[in-house]
Amino acid sequence: MEFLTKVWAKEATTPVAIEAVTGAAQKNATPKAEKASASTEPTDETTTAQKDWGYDLYPERRGETFKPKWTRVLFGMEGQENIDRFKCEENVYWCVKNGPLVKLMMGALKSSGCPIDLRRHISCEVCDPTVTGGYDPKLNQIVVCQNMAKNKSMVHGVLTHEMIHMFDYCNNDMDFRNVDHLACTEIRAANLAHCSFLSAMFQGDASPFNVKEAHQNCVKSKALASVLAVRNVSKADAIAAVERVFPKCYADLEPIGRRIRRNSTDQQKAYMEAPMYGYDVY
Ligand SMILES: [Zn+2]
Repeated sequence: MEFLTKVWAKEATTPVAIEAVTGAAQKNATPKAEKASASTEPTDETTTAQKDWGYDLYPERRGETFKPKWTRVLFGMEGQENIDRFKCEENVYWCVKNGPLVKLMMGALKSSGCPIDLRRHISCEVCDPTVTGGYDPKLNQIVVCQNMAKNKSMVHGVLTHEMIHMFDYCNNDMDFRNVDHLACTEIRAANLAHCSFLSAMFQGDASPFNVKEAHQNCVKSKALASVLAVRNVSKADAIAAVERVFPKCYADLEPIGRRIRRNSTDQQKAYMEAPMYGYDVY
């Protein structure tokens, strides 16, 4: 669940890039276009840039790297990517209608002046198997990895996580190339989504102090993994960035307002409380 920061091959033609994301333009993509974009930047540099910025994890972000023939080899099934895409879009739709945190985030984004249009802002794509989703700030799009997030609860987790990145990008003056900013939004996403659901596992006979400690460690390690997955920085630098911004970013619970415990009514409560914070509720 990492994000991308640099759309490199399609910068001049955003509408084309959006079409490519939906798959419509993929068929029309020609090697000529690839050559044209390659000629604008030296190949070595673009390859390095892709790796540095996480784009190698999202082949469809590059428009034409992902080809059905390659899929057939990988999955042993022709057309599987279309079936996956359809199921993924169905799950996204279900989450937007029924998932409390997704609905809350939709409302918070709308109130912040960044409303989500499903067709424009959420895209199901085939990704590298190491990631389940991503956020592309350049196009302001969330990527749901159709080959990895295969059920409603996984899609709900991906959408909540990536919508927090989208919310941060909408509300804060964020520079995703700045590793501190990246670490901060990953801490927030881990805190409000991923680790919140795990926190109940640490309850039971754990003391309140340990619960707190375990939750913070979960957030730190998840955020660290996210930063390292998409940025070519050393582990020491990534750890330093997470530690630098942790106190501030861990304390920032906007827009969910509470850490969600598993098997609790917290999700529903957070959703019901949203209007109190001035967020629209769908
Ligand atoms: Zn993330």
